[in-house]
This record gives sequence, C-alpha cells and structure tokens, in this order.
Amino acid sequence: MLTASPSLRPEAPLRIALYPGSFDPLTRGHVTIVQRGRRIFDEVVVAVARNVSKKSLFTIDERVEMARDVFAHDSGIRVETFDGLLVDYARSIGATALLRGLRAVADFEYENQMASMNHMLAPDIETVFLMADANTFFVSSRLVKEVASLGGDVSTVVPAAVHDRLIARLAKQKGES
Ligand code: ADP
Repeated sequence: MLTASPSLRPEAPLRIALYPGSFDPLTRGHVTIVQRGRRIFDEVVVAVARNVSKKSLFTIDERVEMARDVFAHDSGIRVETFDGLLVDYARSIGATALLRGLRAVADFEYENQMASMNHMLAPDIETVFLMADANTFFVSSRLVKEVASLGGDVSTVVPAAVHDRLIARLAKQKGES
C-alpha cells in the first residue's frame, strides 16, 4: 500500500524574483519593495542595469556596492548587474517574476507598457507590482539627488550607507565645478 510521506515529496523549486532598476542611488523606497518582496519570494535578485544611455551619479560598481552593504544581512537578497534584454536575464537566473514598485499614476503608464512588452516576450514570467509605502511613495532617486545637491536633508529617505556616499560625492562634484 502506498502511503503519503512528506520526505518523498520533491523539493519545491525556489521562487526567485528579479527587481531591476538603475538604483542611482538606492533609496528607502527601493528597500521597502525588496523587503516586502522577500515575504513573497524565496530570493529577490536586485539587478542594477548597465544602462549606458543614462547619465548616472554613481558608477555601476558603486551602486552595486551600496546595495550589497544595505542587504548584507539577508542571504535571500542578491545584488547583481545585467545588460541586454531583461527577460533573457530573468531566465538565466531562473526568476519567474519581475518585481516592480508603483508610486503614483505617473508610474502606471510606463510600468504597464513594460509589463505588457515583457509578457509578450516571456509569457511565463509574471510582473508583480507592489504599491509604494505611504512613507516613501514620494521618493525617487532623481529627487533625492536634486534635493541633496541643494543642501536639503535626505537622511530619512536613503539608507545610512547611501547617505554618507551621496553627501561625499556631491561635495566632490561641487569642489570640481
Ligand atoms: P528605473 O531606472 O527603472 O526608474 P529605479 O531604480 O528608479 O529604476 O526604480 C526601480 C523600480 O523601483 C521601479 O519599479 C520603480 O517604480 C520602483 N521605485 C522607485 N522608487 C520607489 C519608491 N519610492 N517606492 C516604491 N517603488 C519605487
């Protein structure tokens, strides 16, 4: 007679989500999306885009280093870089979901287009959206850089490891100009 034995059940595959972006620099908005994503997925891979067309404040290596510092405490969060087609990279790491954050209506149109295009390219990969937190829905990397460069205090909206580097980088830039 066959009896159900939990030990004979095959291991469930890891659920891996890919969270792509520029992260120039990582903000607390990004951090909350990753942490909330981790409640749903076994592993979240934060993928910093090697997007040469975007002018960035931090190099790709610096952005990766900052993010690795911030997420070092959780072995279920990896920080990598990618270039080329997002869905190809997702497949190469075994991700079955793309994780994205939605702040406002303004994000919706672009995110909807991207999700639809990625669905056309890879119907087996789902885009999962998390609504931005009430505390960070107004935070963007662009605005953080702008406010900090004008001397505004952004310490509550970026991780401490990012804040120190941001202030140092902006001071260096100011000295050079
Ligand atoms: P991109 O270069 O694609 O704009 P970002 O690094 O700015 O990349 O953002 C990556 C993802 O994180 C996007 O889905 C974006 O909507 C989301 N995101 C950015 N800031 C926040 C925030 N404050 N709250 C929630 N999601 C956010």
